[in-house]
Amino acid sequence: MIYLFLCIALAFGAEIDVNTFSNYIEVSQEQVHIEWLLDLDEQYINATSQSIFRVNTNKLKKIDLDIYQLSIIAVYLSSSGNVLQHEIIKKGDQSLLQGDVLSIQLDRVYTRGEYIKLNIKYNLDSKGARALGFLTKEQTYSKTVPYLFSQCEDNNCRSIIPLQDTPSIKVFFTATVLVKDPRINVFMTGNKLYNMKFKLLNNYENLQALTLYQFELDIKIPAYLIGIIAGEVVEKSTGNGTYVIAEPHFIDEYAEELSDLPVYMNKMQEYIGPYIWGDYKIVILPASFPFGGMEHPLLTFASPTIIVGDKSGVGTAIHEIAHSWVGNTVTGRNWANFWINEGFCVFLERKILSRLNGLDSVKLDAINGNSSAFTSMQTFGLDNSFSSMHPNTTNRNPDEATSRVPYEKGYQLLTYLESLIKEEPFQQFLRDYIENFKFQSIDEDQLYQFLLSWVRKNKQEEAQRIIEEIQKVWKKWVYNPGLAPITIDVSTPLLADANNLAKAWIDGKGQAPEKANDFQQYKPNQKSVFLQYLIDNYKDVEAAVMTKMDEQYKLTFYKDQKTGYKWYRLVLLVKYDQALEGVHDFVSKVGVSSYLKVLYDLLGQNYNKQAYDWFEENKSFYHPVVVQAIEKILQKYPKKLIIE
Ligand SMILES: [Zn+2]
Repeated sequence: MIYLFLCIALAFGAEIDVNTFSNYIEVSQEQVHIEWLLDLDEQYINATSQSIFRVNTNKLKKIDLDIYQLSIIAVYLSSSGNVLQHEIIKKGDQSLLQGDVLSIQLDRVYTRGEYIKLNIKYNLDSKGARALGFLTKEQTYSKTVPYLFSQCEDNNCRSIIPLQDTPSIKVFFTATVLVKDPRINVFMTGNKLYNMKFKLLNNYENLQALTLYQFELDIKIPAYLIGIIAGEVVEKSTGNGTYVIAEPHFIDEYAEELSDLPVYMNKMQEYIGPYIWGDYKIVILPASFPFGGMEHPLLTFASPTIIVGDKSGVGTAIHEIAHSWVGNTVTGRNWANFWINEGFCVFLERKILSRLNGLDSVKLDAINGNSSAFTSMQTFGLDNSFSSMHPNTTNRNPDEATSRVPYEKGYQLLTYLESLIKEEPFQQFLRDYIENFKFQSIDEDQLYQFLLSWVRKNKQEEAQRIIEEIQKVWKKWVYNPGLAPITIDVSTPLLADANNLAKAWIDGKGQAPEKANDFQQYKPNQKSVFLQYLIDNYKDVEAAVMTKMDEQYKLTFYKDQKTGYKWYRLVLLVKYDQALEGVHDFVSKVGVSSYLKVLYDLLGQNYNKQAYDWFEENKSFYHPVVVQAIEKILQKYPKKLIIE
């Protein structure tokens, strides 16, 4: 079967997705509708999905879908109601990594061009649905009703909907969500409909008592872009079709911080072309949200860590806006081509940020990004494929490969290409790229071929030289692990200043250096570079330096969590015990996966007891994907028995 897939896939000249168990080449999902009855108190969902599939082969007898810990009740043809046989097939040790196969036996042999419409009745709960974060009402600010949010990327959508969970497949998505408590407001990917459009698939005894929400999206999306929040949330307009959504207590503060959303949107459109998705809504989630942001169309999610109070954290909002073009309109075909989403997105984000904050500030972002990418490479191993832009995720949960590597190496590649092609023509290239591949899922080779032919057509006498330069580095850049083959220029006086100040602190051995007060004037990205210098040289940082610096800058319990995170890394590396309560506070308040993974790794090494105690204490606060990741990290540092 795999051989057959390969033949068909190779005939198209495109990469297959190794992280789906579905037979998506033979039969492709075109449409997914879900009907969910939410019970947030019991953390339980009664669900039905209705999907339309198109047959792409002449002898289709079964449909294989991805599922993770779903309890499947029945599968039947939507038109006749005839029940279809199904079985759940386990693939070796993959059940807890990537899930199982829901294999559906069709009622006859189907041929190319036919359509099949299926309903699947199933249930899910907080134990199995690793895409969902369920918060009790006590974990919310107002403590009135529970809260639910999702995180389907990478391949966690299969834990909430049985489907072809691959970015190669894009579907029209619609939903009906029913809730028992009218105080619970629901938002999903897509437009909220104010007139009921979809007939209910099930009968509900107490229908009058339920509140019903419907959603529809008229552009096809891959499964990983499906998202939901439910809870006591409200939305507030920030002008020109942009909105902020949050718990009522925070809405004014957050809307104020994000009041420039229309500006970011305009700047982005000036650079890359028209925005096609409709309203732009951004949800600021509770602190358990595991990522900086997530780009569901019409329902971006963002961590509250982006709210700093001075608009200095809004780069994430700009990043998520950029995904509307790169990632959501043109999509990487599989998780090995994740950089096609993220590298382009970082490039657009920094293009807009350079117009808002200047090029030197963006260079600092690139330096910080590269240093976190390098930290991940060191953790993976410099010759590990996860340290490349094209990770091999066969038999792995692709979440394991998630790091800054594809973001930063992708950004660096595009910056290098821009330097070859020159700024204005490269902007045109990006616009042509979006136009050429819109609504498709592509891989690096399709992009490469398009790039070469674009250069040939548009750069005339320079074309041959540019093509040769690209050919020299492309495959190495994409496939080789470790740092990029060419270093882009990120030199800026802001870097030198921050490094000199950090060095002066180390050399001062507890005396504050002459320019110590410069730090207070730094933007968060320059503070980050400063702290990174100390992290890189932590063996030379004496305890007296930590004490004096903390006294002067008040870094323990710092408000900006990006700066706080770097400080606590340093605290754990140099074992500055006096700030340990700050670390405890941080890991109890911030649910961002990338921060927690690094801090728990250092805790496991240097503060074994606290690592286990604090993890146990905060387990219910962290999102399930983060709990799994930390458990895996702590396995490296077995719990030490302490006899008191
Ligand atoms: Zn992104």
